[in-house]
Amino acid sequence: MKKPKPVFSVEKTVELNDGHRMPTLGYGVWQIPDADAEKCVAEALRVGYRSIDTARIYDNERGVGRAIAKSGVPREALFVTTKLWNEDQGFDGTLRAFDASLQRLALEYLDLYLIHWPSPSRGLYLESWKALVRLRKEGRVRSIGVSNFGIDHLQTIIDGTQQLPAVNQIELHPRFAQRPARQRHEAFGIVTEAWSPLGQGQEKTLGDATLVEIAAKHRRSVAQVILRWHLQHGHVVIPKSATPARIAENFAIYDFSLDDEDMKRIDGLDDDKGRIGSDPATATF
Ligand code: NAD
Repeated sequence: MKKPKPVFSVEKTVELNDGHRMPTLGYGVWQIPDADAEKCVAEALRVGYRSIDTARIYDNERGVGRAIAKSGVPREALFVTTKLWNEDQGFDGTLRAFDASLQRLALEYLDLYLIHWPSPSRGLYLESWKALVRLRKEGRVRSIGVSNFGIDHLQTIIDGTQQLPAVNQIELHPRFAQRPARQRHEAFGIVTEAWSPLGQGQEKTLGDATLVEIAAKHRRSVAQVILRWHLQHGHVVIPKSATPARIAENFAIYDFSLDDEDMKRIDGLDDDKGRIGSDPATATF
């Protein structure tokens, strides 16, 4: 009888530095209009996703909330993330924005609230972080974190409150692998969450010859190989798709594994100039 190949085990959840657990694979909803969000999130929940990543600025929290309410999935089995928009930063502004997001989502508490961007030109991210600490203390949000924070931004909020963010959600995909940031997060005990984990589905990523070859070897899609690479590096991923077949495909990544050679070859695609989104250090929005 043929022996099954060993599968490098990846946990389906990761323990955060506050003791809560977060699914390692979630469903991102950026650019899904509110009118479609209900249908897309319902499909993701049907397939088995339990973590949903939205944001105030995506303008689809209501649709996400409708899908959750109708899903029949117990609230405690879900992990819902939303984010504070830049214009709402500041202590009081953050508290108000949190209430409004929770209301739109029709939830009593949130699993993870993130500061979406440091927006350093505003000079308000430390005050905003203090508000997140308060919301967590009040039990209105289980875990708090940040997004697009560089080392200086992280150091400022940690020094200012002695409170660590549970996650930092940053742009991260094979063509922009953010090794220094990942190492710093690891040293702090902060989970790295990858946004645009598939490089936004761009041809230069999904059509990359190395990735195509590795995918063929495993009889998997390039998207599945990339997501698996993230998981084996310990990143949380939140791929987005509005297409049911892809929503399912992106979820089927726990039953195969990449070997060391595959991992090294994908690591080799990293490019300093591979950033797709804005640079948080200079973004002025
Ligand atoms: P992504 O890397 O998840 O790529 C999504 C695109 O890839 C899709 O629109 C589709 O074109 C393609 N795709 C998806 N699955 C595929 C498959 N199986 N086969 C072929 N093509 C496929 O990009 P994203 O949406 O930018 O990022 C994911 C999530 O990250 C967002 O929805 C959002 O929740 C979050 N995000 C956060 C920030 C932030 O600043 N914090 C910024 C961008 C995105």
